[in-house]
Amino acid sequence: MRNFEDVLAAWPVANRDEIIEKTTRIDVLRTLDKAESAALSPADFLKLLAPAALDVLEDMARRAHELTLRYFGRAVSIFTPLYISDICTNQCRYCGFNAKNKQPRRHLSVEEAAAEAFAIADQGFQHILILTGDAPKLASPQYIADVVKRIRHRFASVGIEVYSLSEAEYKSLIDAGVDSMTMFQETYNPELYAWLHPAGPKKDYKYRLNAPERSARAGMRSIGVGALLGLEVFARDAFATGLHAWHLQRTYPGVEVSVSVPRICPHEGEFEVAQGVDDRQFVQYVTALRCFLPRAGITCSSRESANTRDHLLPLGVTRVSAGVSTAVGGRATEDLHNPGQFEISDNRSLEKMMADLTALGYQPVLKDWEDPVVRESAEH
Ligand code: SF4
Repeated sequence: MRNFEDVLAAWPVANRDEIIEKTTRIDVLRTLDKAESAALSPADFLKLLAPAALDVLEDMARRAHELTLRYFGRAVSIFTPLYISDICTNQCRYCGFNAKNKQPRRHLSVEEAAAEAFAIADQGFQHILILTGDAPKLASPQYIADVVKRIRHRFASVGIEVYSLSEAEYKSLIDAGVDSMTMFQETYNPELYAWLHPAGPKKDYKYRLNAPERSARAGMRSIGVGALLGLEVFARDAFATGLHAWHLQRTYPGVEVSVSVPRICPHEGEFEVAQGVDDRQFVQYVTALRCFLPRAGITCSSRESANTRDHLLPLGVTRVSAGVSTAVGGRATEDLHNPGQFEISDNRSLEKMMADLTALGYQPVLKDWEDPVVRESAEH
């Protein structure tokens, strides 16, 4: 079985750039016609990411909207992240938790993390995403598992967005109650990746690239992938991300695959965004993803404004966060008033998000999955 590394290698950047350059407006319209009734190929997806597609963005939006309604109706899932440790040994140039940034750090004890999680559960959230920095000796897989075991009974779904783990480590977290994982590759350009990650365990590009598949082999129910938009030429990372999700869907048909679409935003430190993605390109990306992967969830985080997120719902976004803080603590334990990993743009609470979604004609979904073991233990 080919892993994603091999799949991506079959698409050299020069070939992709050439297809994109040659794509015309007519090619894009033909591809959109095809998307109505047939699966698109990776080559089709490339065409939808070409500059020529920007000329027919309304046609892209129309097709994406139809496909979103066909496969997801008007349901939008809501989750919230919980940062339990911001100690990090990496030096990712674009991140506020970069080990070189001098700011107070915090690592919650299991009981502190549980107090924060229970405060989130009390607000009504059923889906929680646990995040840590990359400090495996402190925020170890065992520590994460202990937190998950402690909080699992209060949530329908517990996900993780942590550093790359081995298959056995993913298995141990699944056994503890984790059912989903998100892994941002950041960029799929290995040279750029090396420059962006000058020190720390995250330097290992291939180990990260193959992490989603290790988690799939371990039995993860739901897997999300994404690139941090703004690092690499837009269409290159957009294509690689879609290809990654496509490969996971085909290789692991039992896994629910989703794509996150984070655009880089301000943080502590100085990082110049080399390849800024404007709003039109952002819409192009979401609509192209929806046409290429009609069944995949698309997650849009609070990095984006409320207005942007609302406008992306008809075009393919199916999952949003609410009540977000990217700092560690502050809900039920001490608030160090840290700047957090990055600045968020959409500060809506769960209540406000649900009201706004309803007003827009959407159905807010707090629980679209529940681990049968957890349900059974809650019933007895
Ligand atoms: S992106 Fe993650 S691994 Fe990199 S510095 Fe930030 S918290 Fe650490």
